[in-house]
Amino acid sequence: MLDGPTDIPGGRRPGRPGDGGRAEGASKSAGTPRSMLPAMELNGTAAIVTGAASGLGEATARDLAAAGCRVVVADLSEQQGKAVAEAIGGLFVRTDVSDEQSVQEAVDAAASAGPPLRVAVSCAGILFAARTVGRDGSPHPLAPYQKVIDVNLIGTFNLMRIAAAAIARTEPADSDGQRGVIINISSIAGMEGQVGQTAYSASKAGIIGMTVPAARDLASIGVRVNAICPGIIETPIYGSGPGREDFLAKLVAPIVFPKRMGTPAEVARFVRAVVENDYLNAEVFRFDAGIRLQPR
Ligand code: NAD
Repeated sequence: MLDGPTDIPGGRRPGRPGDGGRAEGASKSAGTPRSMLPAMELNGTAAIVTGAASGLGEATARDLAAAGCRVVVADLSEQQGKAVAEAIGGLFVRTDVSDEQSVQEAVDAAASAGPPLRVAVSCAGILFAARTVGRDGSPHPLAPYQKVIDVNLIGTFNLMRIAAAAIARTEPADSDGQRGVIINISSIAGMEGQVGQTAYSASKAGIIGMTVPAARDLASIGVRVNAICPGIIETPIYGSGPGREDFLAKLVAPIVFPKRMGTPAEVARFVRAVVENDYLNAEVFRFDAGIRLQPR
Protein backbone atom coordinates (compact mmCIF):
# COMPACT_ATOMS: atom_id res chain seq x y z
CA MET A 1 0.00 0.00 0.00
CA LEU A 2 1.46 3.33 -1.00
CA ASP A 3 0.70 6.19 1.30
CA GLY A 4 2.11 9.10 -0.59
CA PRO A 5 4.86 11.62 -0.17
CA THR A 6 5.01 11.60 3.61
CA ASP A 7 5.84 7.89 3.77
CA ILE A 8 9.43 7.99 2.62
CA PRO A 9 12.00 5.32 3.19
CA GLY A 10 15.39 6.96 2.74
CA GLY A 11 18.75 6.27 1.12
CA ARG A 12 18.08 4.15 -1.93
CA ARG A 13 20.12 5.66 -4.66
CA PRO A 14 23.88 5.82 -4.66
CA GLY A 15 25.28 9.33 -4.66
CA ARG A 16 26.41 10.88 -7.91
CA PRO A 17 29.66 12.60 -8.73
CA GLY A 18 29.86 15.93 -6.95
CA ASP A 19 27.29 15.30 -4.26
CA GLY A 20 29.72 13.70 -1.86
CA GLY A 21 28.20 10.24 -2.30
CA ARG A 22 24.99 11.33 -0.62
CA ALA A 23 22.31 8.67 -0.78
CA GLU A 24 19.21 9.46 -2.83
CA GLY A 25 16.42 9.19 -0.30
CA ALA A 26 18.16 11.45 2.18
CA SER A 27 19.51 13.85 -0.40
CA LYS A 28 17.08 16.74 -0.30
CA SER A 29 16.72 17.45 3.34
CA ALA A 30 19.74 17.55 5.64
CA GLY A 31 20.52 21.25 5.82
CA THR A 32 21.55 21.89 2.21
CA PRO A 33 19.82 24.90 0.65
CA ARG A 34 17.34 23.63 -1.96
CA SER A 35 18.74 25.91 -4.63
CA MET A 36 22.01 24.00 -4.42
CA LEU A 37 20.57 20.52 -4.55
CA PRO A 38 20.73 18.33 -7.63
CA ALA A 39 17.64 17.96 -9.80
CA MET A 40 15.78 14.71 -10.41
CA GLU A 41 18.59 12.28 -11.13
CA LEU A 42 18.21 10.34 -14.37
CA ASN A 43 21.42 8.38 -14.29
CA GLY A 44 20.67 4.79 -13.32
CA THR A 45 16.95 4.95 -14.00
CA ALA A 46 14.67 3.50 -16.66
CA ALA A 47 12.45 5.45 -19.03
CA ILE A 48 9.87 4.62 -21.68
CA VAL A 49 9.25 6.80 -24.72
CA THR A 50 6.46 6.12 -27.22
CA GLY A 51 6.93 7.22 -30.81
CA ALA A 52 10.65 6.90 -30.17
CA ALA A 53 11.48 5.51 -33.60
CA SER A 54 11.28 8.97 -35.18
CA GLY A 55 11.20 12.71 -34.67
CA LEU A 56 10.64 14.14 -31.21
CA GLY A 57 10.41 10.72 -29.59
CA GLU A 58 13.68 9.57 -31.07
CA ALA A 59 15.47 12.75 -29.97
CA THR A 60 13.97 12.40 -26.50
CA ALA A 61 15.03 8.76 -26.24
CA ARG A 62 18.55 9.68 -27.30
CA ASP A 63 18.75 12.54 -24.79
CA LEU A 64 17.44 10.44 -21.89
CA ALA A 65 19.90 7.69 -22.77
CA ALA A 66 22.72 10.24 -22.81
CA ALA A 67 21.64 11.23 -19.30
CA GLY A 68 22.08 7.64 -18.16
CA CYS A 69 18.56 6.19 -18.58
CA ARG A 70 17.89 2.73 -19.87
CA VAL A 71 15.24 3.61 -22.44
CA VAL A 72 12.46 1.45 -23.83
CA VAL A 73 11.79 2.56 -27.39
CA ALA A 74 8.07 1.89 -27.83
CA ASP A 75 6.86 2.33 -31.39
CA LEU A 76 4.91 0.67 -34.18
CA SER A 77 7.84 1.00 -36.54
CA GLU A 78 10.00 -2.06 -36.01
CA GLN A 79 12.92 -1.32 -38.28
CA GLN A 80 13.49 2.28 -37.17
CA GLY A 81 12.69 1.51 -33.56
CA LYS A 82 15.23 -1.29 -33.38
CA ALA A 83 17.88 0.94 -34.94
CA VAL A 84 17.27 3.69 -32.37
CA ALA A 85 17.28 1.23 -29.48
CA GLU A 86 20.51 -0.30 -30.68
CA ALA A 87 22.16 3.11 -31.08
CA ILE A 88 21.34 4.15 -27.51
CA GLY A 89 21.78 0.84 -25.69
CA GLY A 90 18.04 0.67 -25.08
CA LEU A 91 15.34 -1.88 -25.71
CA PHE A 92 12.83 -1.83 -28.57
CA VAL A 93 9.32 -3.05 -27.85
CA ARG A 94 6.90 -3.03 -30.77
CA THR A 95 3.97 -1.07 -29.38
CA ASP A 96 0.63 0.17 -30.60
CA VAL A 97 -0.23 2.87 -28.07
CA SER A 98 -3.94 2.57 -28.82
CA ASP A 99 -3.90 -1.05 -27.63
CA GLU A 100 -3.76 -1.34 -23.84
CA GLN A 101 -2.25 -4.83 -23.83
CA SER A 102 0.52 -3.67 -26.11
CA VAL A 103 1.26 -0.69 -23.85
CA GLN A 104 1.17 -2.96 -20.79
CA GLU A 105 3.83 -5.17 -22.37
CA ALA A 106 6.05 -2.19 -23.18
CA VAL A 107 5.70 -0.82 -19.65
CA ASP A 108 6.41 -4.26 -18.19
CA ALA A 109 9.64 -4.32 -20.20
CA ALA A 110 10.59 -0.89 -18.88
CA ALA A 111 9.70 -1.81 -15.31
CA SER A 112 11.81 -4.95 -15.45
CA ALA A 113 14.75 -3.37 -17.26
CA GLY A 114 16.74 -3.29 -14.01
CA PRO A 115 16.87 0.30 -12.81
CA PRO A 116 13.69 1.87 -11.39
CA LEU A 117 11.22 3.24 -13.95
CA ARG A 118 11.06 7.01 -13.42
CA VAL A 119 10.08 8.61 -16.72
CA ALA A 120 7.35 8.03 -19.31
CA VAL A 121 7.11 10.28 -22.35
CA SER A 122 4.25 10.03 -24.86
CA CYS A 123 5.37 11.16 -28.29
CA ALA A 124 3.50 8.70 -30.52
CA GLY A 125 1.09 10.63 -32.66
CA ILE A 126 -0.46 10.94 -36.11
CA LEU A 127 -1.83 13.80 -38.20
CA PHE A 128 -5.08 13.90 -40.11
CA ALA A 129 -6.77 16.77 -41.90
CA ALA A 130 -10.33 17.11 -43.16
CA ARG A 131 -12.92 19.87 -42.87
CA THR A 132 -15.92 19.32 -40.62
CA VAL A 133 -17.99 19.65 -43.78
CA GLY A 134 -15.94 19.07 -46.91
CA ARG A 135 -15.98 21.29 -50.00
CA ASP A 136 -18.19 18.65 -51.62
CA GLY A 137 -20.71 19.01 -48.79
CA SER A 138 -19.99 15.68 -47.14
CA PRO A 139 -19.46 15.51 -43.39
CA HIS A 140 -16.04 14.75 -41.90
CA PRO A 141 -15.58 10.96 -42.04
CA LEU A 142 -15.89 9.45 -38.60
CA ALA A 143 -13.36 6.61 -38.86
CA PRO A 144 -10.23 8.80 -39.17
CA TYR A 145 -11.51 11.05 -36.39
CA GLN A 146 -11.80 8.02 -34.11
CA LYS A 147 -8.38 6.77 -35.20
CA VAL A 148 -6.68 10.07 -34.33
CA ILE A 149 -8.37 10.10 -30.92
CA ASP A 150 -7.38 6.45 -30.39
CA VAL A 151 -3.71 7.02 -31.13
CA ASN A 152 -3.08 10.56 -29.90
CA LEU A 153 -5.37 10.81 -26.88
CA ILE A 154 -6.20 7.29 -25.74
CA GLY A 155 -2.63 6.22 -26.59
CA THR A 156 -1.28 8.96 -24.33
CA PHE A 157 -3.72 8.03 -21.58
CA ASN A 158 -2.74 4.37 -21.92
CA LEU A 159 0.91 5.12 -21.34
CA MET A 160 0.24 7.58 -18.54
CA ARG A 161 -2.03 5.31 -16.51
CA ILE A 162 -0.09 2.09 -17.07
CA ALA A 163 3.36 3.62 -16.58
CA ALA A 164 2.21 5.51 -13.48
CA ALA A 165 0.94 2.27 -11.96
CA ALA A 166 4.37 0.72 -12.55
CA ILE A 167 6.22 3.79 -11.23
CA ALA A 168 4.03 3.63 -8.10
CA ARG A 169 5.62 0.27 -7.28
CA THR A 170 9.12 1.80 -7.10
CA GLU A 171 10.65 3.30 -4.00
CA PRO A 172 10.61 7.10 -3.77
CA ALA A 173 13.62 8.73 -5.37
CA ASP A 174 14.01 11.59 -2.95
CA SER A 175 12.88 13.11 0.32
CA ASP A 176 9.89 14.78 -1.39
CA GLY A 177 8.56 11.29 -2.08
CA GLN A 178 8.96 11.74 -5.81
CA ARG A 179 8.84 8.54 -7.81
CA GLY A 180 8.67 9.72 -11.39
CA VAL A 181 7.56 12.06 -14.12
CA ILE A 182 5.10 11.79 -17.02
CA ILE A 183 5.51 14.08 -20.03
CA ASN A 184 2.74 14.14 -22.63
CA ILE A 185 3.40 15.72 -26.00
CA SER A 186 0.39 17.77 -27.04
CA SER A 187 0.53 20.55 -29.65
CA ILE A 188 -0.26 24.23 -30.02
CA ALA A 189 -2.99 22.92 -32.36
CA GLY A 190 -4.65 21.73 -29.15
CA MET A 191 -5.22 25.44 -28.41
CA GLU A 192 -5.60 27.07 -31.84
CA GLY A 193 -6.21 24.38 -34.43
CA GLN A 194 -6.25 25.27 -38.09
CA VAL A 195 -8.85 24.62 -40.76
CA GLY A 196 -9.19 20.85 -41.12
CA GLN A 197 -7.79 20.04 -37.69
CA THR A 198 -10.87 19.14 -35.65
CA ALA A 199 -9.68 15.57 -35.07
CA TYR A 200 -6.03 16.40 -34.37
CA SER A 201 -6.86 19.46 -32.26
CA ALA A 202 -9.43 17.54 -30.21
CA SER A 203 -6.89 14.80 -29.51
CA LYS A 204 -4.25 17.32 -28.43
CA ALA A 205 -6.72 19.42 -26.40
CA GLY A 206 -7.64 16.22 -24.59
CA ILE A 207 -4.02 15.82 -23.54
CA ILE A 208 -4.01 19.40 -22.25
CA GLY A 209 -7.24 18.76 -20.37
CA MET A 210 -5.87 15.65 -18.67
CA THR A 211 -2.83 17.44 -17.29
CA VAL A 212 -4.21 19.02 -14.13
CA PRO A 213 -6.49 16.16 -13.03
CA ALA A 214 -3.80 13.57 -13.75
CA ALA A 215 -1.22 15.56 -11.76
CA ARG A 216 -3.73 15.73 -8.90
CA ASP A 217 -4.49 12.01 -9.16
CA LEU A 218 -0.85 11.00 -9.22
CA ALA A 219 0.41 13.35 -6.50
CA SER A 220 -0.27 10.71 -3.87
CA ILE A 221 2.23 8.39 -5.53
CA GLY A 222 4.80 11.12 -6.12
CA VAL A 223 4.43 11.36 -9.89
CA ARG A 224 4.47 14.73 -11.69
CA VAL A 225 2.55 15.25 -14.95
CA ASN A 226 3.30 17.93 -17.51
CA ALA A 227 2.28 18.51 -21.11
CA ILE A 228 4.38 20.15 -23.80
CA CYS A 229 2.85 21.82 -26.84
CA PRO A 230 5.40 22.05 -29.62
CA GLY A 231 4.95 24.53 -32.45
CA ILE A 232 6.48 23.66 -35.83
CA ILE A 233 9.27 21.13 -35.43
CA GLU A 234 11.17 19.61 -38.33
CA THR A 235 10.30 15.91 -38.30
CA PRO A 236 8.99 13.30 -40.77
CA ILE A 237 5.43 13.91 -39.53
CA TYR A 238 4.95 16.48 -42.33
CA GLY A 239 5.63 13.83 -44.97
CA SER A 240 7.85 14.16 -48.00
CA GLY A 241 5.48 14.96 -50.87
CA PRO A 242 6.10 17.59 -53.56
CA GLY A 243 4.13 20.31 -51.74
CA ARG A 244 6.11 19.91 -48.50
CA GLU A 245 8.34 23.00 -48.83
CA ASP A 246 5.46 25.37 -49.66
CA PHE A 247 3.34 23.90 -46.91
CA LEU A 248 6.13 24.32 -44.34
CA ALA A 249 6.96 27.86 -45.51
CA LYS A 250 3.35 28.85 -44.78
CA LEU A 251 3.55 27.26 -41.34
CA VAL A 252 6.83 28.99 -40.50
CA ALA A 253 5.69 32.49 -41.59
CA PRO A 254 3.94 33.46 -38.33
CA ILE A 255 6.80 32.28 -36.09
CA VAL A 256 8.03 35.26 -34.04
CA PHE A 257 11.71 34.41 -33.37
CA PRO A 258 13.84 32.53 -34.22
CA LYS A 259 12.10 32.39 -37.58
CA ARG A 260 12.65 28.76 -38.41
CA MET A 261 11.31 25.33 -37.53
CA GLY A 262 12.37 23.97 -34.19
CA THR A 263 14.56 20.89 -34.04
CA PRO A 264 13.75 17.59 -32.33
CA ALA A 265 16.91 18.06 -30.24
CA GLU A 266 15.55 21.36 -28.88
CA VAL A 267 12.32 19.64 -27.85
CA ALA A 268 14.25 16.78 -26.27
CA ARG A 269 16.34 19.24 -24.26
CA PHE A 270 13.15 20.86 -22.98
CA VAL A 271 11.60 17.49 -22.10
CA ARG A 272 14.67 16.72 -20.07
CA ALA A 273 14.64 20.13 -18.38
CA VAL A 274 11.03 19.55 -17.29
CA VAL A 275 11.82 16.03 -16.10
CA GLU A 276 14.83 17.21 -14.14
CA ASN A 277 13.17 20.16 -12.42
CA ASP A 278 11.30 18.81 -9.42
CA TYR A 279 9.04 21.84 -9.04
CA LEU A 280 7.39 21.67 -12.46
CA ASN A 281 4.03 19.96 -12.18
CA ALA A 282 0.51 20.11 -13.66
CA GLU A 283 1.70 22.56 -16.32
CA VAL A 284 1.10 22.93 -20.05
CA PHE A 285 4.10 24.49 -21.78
CA ARG A 286 4.10 26.04 -25.23
CA PHE A 287 7.36 25.36 -27.05
CA ASP A 288 6.95 27.36 -30.20
CA ALA A 289 9.18 30.47 -30.66
CA GLY A 290 6.11 32.65 -30.20
CA ILE A 291 3.98 31.42 -33.09
CA ARG A 292 0.20 31.71 -33.05
CA LEU A 293 -1.20 29.36 -35.67
CA GLN A 294 -3.17 31.09 -38.40
CA PRO A 295 -6.53 29.67 -39.57
CA ARG A 296 -4.80 28.03 -42.53
P1 NAD B 1 7.01 11.44 -36.33
O1 NAD B 1 6.06 11.01 -37.39
O2 NAD B 1 8.42 11.74 -36.71
O3 NAD B 1 7.02 10.37 -35.16
C1 NAD B 1 5.83 9.79 -34.67
C2 NAD B 1 6.15 8.38 -34.24
O4 NAD B 1 4.96 7.82 -33.66
C3 NAD B 1 6.55 7.45 -35.41
O5 NAD B 1 7.74 6.77 -35.11
C4 NAD B 1 5.38 6.48 -35.53
O6 NAD B 1 5.77 5.18 -35.93
C5 NAD B 1 4.88 6.48 -34.09
N1 NAD B 1 3.49 6.02 -34.00
C6 NAD B 1 2.43 6.39 -34.77
N2 NAD B 1 1.33 5.72 -34.40
C7 NAD B 1 1.69 4.91 -33.37
C8 NAD B 1 1.02 3.97 -32.57
N3 NAD B 1 -0.30 3.71 -32.74
N4 NAD B 1 1.69 3.32 -31.59
C9 NAD B 1 3.02 3.56 -31.42
N5 NAD B 1 3.73 4.43 -32.15
C10 NAD B 1 3.07 5.09 -33.12
O7 NAD B 1 6.31 12.71 -35.67
P2 NAD B 1 6.85 13.81 -34.64
O8 NAD B 1 6.79 15.12 -35.33
O9 NAD B 1 8.09 13.39 -33.96
O10 NAD B 1 5.64 13.80 -33.62
C11 NAD B 1 5.76 13.35 -32.29
C12 NAD B 1 4.61 13.94 -31.49
O11 NAD B 1 4.74 15.35 -31.46
C13 NAD B 1 3.23 13.65 -32.08
O12 NAD B 1 2.32 13.38 -31.04
C14 NAD B 1 2.87 14.95 -32.76
O13 NAD B 1 1.47 15.14 -32.82
C15 NAD B 1 3.52 15.95 -31.82
N6 NAD B 1 3.78 17.25 -32.42
C16 NAD B 1 4.65 17.38 -33.46
C17 NAD B 1 4.88 18.63 -34.00
C18 NAD B 1 5.83 18.86 -35.14
O14 NAD B 1 5.86 19.99 -35.65
N7 NAD B 1 6.59 17.88 -35.56
C19 NAD B 1 4.21 19.75 -33.47
C20 NAD B 1 3.34 19.57 -32.39
C21 NAD B 1 3.15 18.32 -31.88
